[in-house]
Amino acid sequence: MNQKLYDQIISSFFTCDAEAITAIFREFLQAVQAEGVLPPAPHMSQNYETAQVNPEIHVLPGNLKDARDAVFPFFWGTDSWQSKLHLENVKGPANYASLIGGLACLLKNPNLCTDTYSHRSNELEVKAVTALANLLFYHTDDPWGVFTMGGTISNLYGAKIGIERVLPGAMQSGLNGVRVAGIVSEASHYSNRSIAGWLGIGTEQLCAIATDDALSMRLDLLGEKLEELHKAGTRVAWVTATFGTTDGGGVDDVAGIRRIIDDFAARHGVPAPQLHVDAAVGWVHCFLTEYDREKNSLDFSPKLLELVRRVQEPARGLQVADSITIDFHKMGWGHYPGSVFLVNRRSDLKYLSRSVTETPYFSEADGRRDPALFTLECSRPALGPYTVMASLNGIGLTGWQLLVGRALELAQVLKERLEEIEYCKVLNMQTTGPSVLWWVLPRGRDAKRIHEQALAGEIAPERFARYADEIRRMYELREKSMDPALDARLSFTTSIGHSPHGIALPAWKAVLFNPKTDMAVIDRLIQGIEAML
Ligand SMILES: *Cc1c(COP(=O)(O)O)cnc(C)c1O
Repeated sequence: MNQKLYDQIISSFFTCDAEAITAIFREFLQAVQAEGVLPPAPHMSQNYETAQVNPEIHVLPGNLKDARDAVFPFFWGTDSWQSKLHLENVKGPANYASLIGGLACLLKNPNLCTDTYSHRSNELEVKAVTALANLLFYHTDDPWGVFTMGGTISNLYGAKIGIERVLPGAMQSGLNGVRVAGIVSEASHYSNRSIAGWLGIGTEQLCAIATDDALSMRLDLLGEKLEELHKAGTRVAWVTATFGTTDGGGVDDVAGIRRIIDDFAARHGVPAPQLHVDAAVGWVHCFLTEYDREKNSLDFSPKLLELVRRVQEPARGLQVADSITIDFHKMGWGHYPGSVFLVNRRSDLKYLSRSVTETPYFSEADGRRDPALFTLECSRPALGPYTVMASLNGIGLTGWQLLVGRALELAQVLKERLEEIEYCKVLNMQTTGPSVLWWVLPRGRDAKRIHEQALAGEIAPERFARYADEIRRMYELREKSMDPALDARLSFTTSIGHSPHGIALPAWKAVLFNPKTDMAVIDRLIQGIEAML
């Protein structure tokens, strides 16, 4: 063996040269800072043409700078969402406390599967999960939870517990021809449909209940659907309530759903479906659940206090949920992956657990606390617990309240200003989240009247399709004429999650979730719309 080459590898890649590593890290940081003065447009065009033609691997060992150079073009060409003009989606810039946590984690590289592989990192996960459960369930006695790679997987855990509730032993024996259904609202995230497919009940067994014009599941229809499914011999494994719909911030009435499913279960002598809450987007409102509006110690404006009031009641409803999904990588200004699946009662994990004999690989696992005995995944990164605990305690409860409050306030300002323009109509006036959905029609159209008629079913679908085209064309017009250095980046949805009389409502969309977005960005957005023909 070439000992010299071998020693070179050990010294370059397995020996910590703090000097060399921090020098490269500083270069990355400088690139990020340089990017900060550029508009939030792609800085480098993609090159899929030859991405597969030349998947070369260097022949000889290099050094850490070769590692840097291997990724740098992609690092530079990748948007880090720091610009205050980014309003496209439920995605803010990652905060730097999260980065500190993430770096600490990467240096130790723990695996959360068992204590043996993670040492104190599992303990950190327990701390994070308990803190979040107290925040979300509004104080709870014996919660538990795990970090997962995304909201999709967190929702999957909730659905899986539901299947085991109504069909005990399905984990071992499968569905055995029993029809099992799940229920969501029509404004729920598409991941719920994927899950129904992957869990084997079939996407056709996921029932989507219509929403009202606040983008909230219609509870009268939920009751009817439960009866209909029961009559047909179908077992309802879960109802997933959405707490903050992805586009419009609609919130399902969790306490109301609880009453309906418990009543249904008692009447028919069947297990109640799992009440899972998909709060991937809306969870961040829970920082305001206990804000004292009388004392108002953070000096919130009357407008914001009113928004806080509107947030608090639905947030308290979360205490009757069985389980919850939250995504730090969406509204938590955190790094990927930062999703958490929380259960209100730890005993519910029995529905997921394996015995030590089923995991011979982890014969030393402790059933009281080792996640490997109930998680879907085997290896799990600890990035979630590290980035989340660093963010929670770096920013502090008060800091979170200010950040969330600001986002709500800005969204409300944008809504009110748009609503003043006669050819514009805000579609989610009744929700309180950071997202704003609206129509811009050609000047001269009465947008409010058209909206009223659409809700009342007084517009034929063909006629509405023409308005929808106009709304889309106005959006494209703005896209073509916008100045990327000054104009906010928006997005467009073809359906906001409420379809009155079967008509899907399209909308322009802005999410006021970047902490640096200010009134000047909103002023310019409004001016731009007013200058349109
Ligand atoms: C984004 C989203 C999901 C999926 O979360 P991922 O982390 O992207 O897997 C689920 N539910 C809602 C409401 C979402 O907005």
